[in-house]
Amino acid sequence: MKTVNVTKTYLPNVDRYKSYVDQIFQSGQLTNNGSLTKELSYRLQEYLGVKNLLLVSNGTMALQIAYKLLDLKGEVITTPFSFVATTSSLVWENIKPIFVDIDPFSFNIDPDLIERAITADTTAIVATHVFGNAANTEKINRIAMKYNLKVIYDAAHCFGTIHNGESILHQGDVSAISFHSTKIFHTIEGGALCINNDHLYEKAKRMINFGITAPYVIEGIGINAKMNEFESAMGLCMLDEMETIKAMRKIRYEYFENKLRDRKGVYLQERSNNTSNNYSHFPVLFEYEDKLIGILAELNKENIYPRRYFYPSLNELDYLDYQEMPVSQDIASRVLCLPLYADINEEVQQRIVEIIVQMTS
Ligand SMILES: *Cc1c(COP(=O)(O)O)cnc(C)c1O
Repeated sequence: MKTVNVTKTYLPNVDRYKSYVDQIFQSGQLTNNGSLTKELSYRLQEYLGVKNLLLVSNGTMALQIAYKLLDLKGEVITTPFSFVATTSSLVWENIKPIFVDIDPFSFNIDPDLIERAITADTTAIVATHVFGNAANTEKINRIAMKYNLKVIYDAAHCFGTIHNGESILHQGDVSAISFHSTKIFHTIEGGALCINNDHLYEKAKRMINFGITAPYVIEGIGINAKMNEFESAMGLCMLDEMETIKAMRKIRYEYFENKLRDRKGVYLQERSNNTSNNYSHFPVLFEYEDKLIGILAELNKENIYPRRYFYPSLNELDYLDYQEMPVSQDIASRVLCLPLYADINEEVQQRIVEIIVQMTS
């Protein structure tokens, strides 16, 4: 049997990509906000229904630019249940992550635990919309207003997610999204910032290009976080096929959901009512870690490789002072993301379900 991984990069029509490459070779401009990067950012703003979208080199840089832009320092309240980049990007910028435990059903930061973690050094809240499921933005906003904190969302999983009738990328001061090849929409490597404030948006544009605003004019400190033309070309090709990709993923997602919902010993993420599902992941929770390990071993025997994701819980990173996070550690020990991509074989999905059902009954 062919190897099945947790995800498979979607490759759009190659002839279309080649025609963009021809265009790049004709223009001779490979990067520095070229015509394809401009076109992609315009088309993404239209497609996603967002304003002020800034394309960058990857999702981690999007987070780091956001922290610099909002001048975060001291302590930042964040979730232990996310991809490592959410935390490591803070530490990289010399900011101390203060973890707040998660809700065991939504897997998102528990807003009712945030206030007691705030100190005089707290400057912001960095929360993740886990597996595209909206964090409790209403409560987080209220706390941020009360204590004058910035809010940044790691929206890496949120391509196309609608929350309360509009793009979820409008939440917080800044939202960061990833367009890495493993995500549902990708630009090979890449990402974007959505910045509500127009002045901050202009500042971020300068920041991703060394602070350069015109020949020999440098306004403020910057770095290199630009997307290039080949990456933008990939994004344009992906965007052309996005409706097909979404429809295919929905069918594959619903297959798992129909077979696994309400099964004894298998628990699914509780999704926010106000948030659309973009079918980015299919996480399942088992009763015990040993159960998960057993199921994983059986699936691996058949060349099927789901991913323990997120695991380990980020409070266990060895470069941090240990802060105990019982719920996040428990969920991290029992959660498995099943293989999900546009053209996954139904027979493979059926086999995955059979093994899970057999091992949990
Ligand atoms: C993928 C991901 C990132 C990092 O994005 P890159 O583009 O790979 O740098 C950050 N946070 C979360 C939650 C992610 O899933």
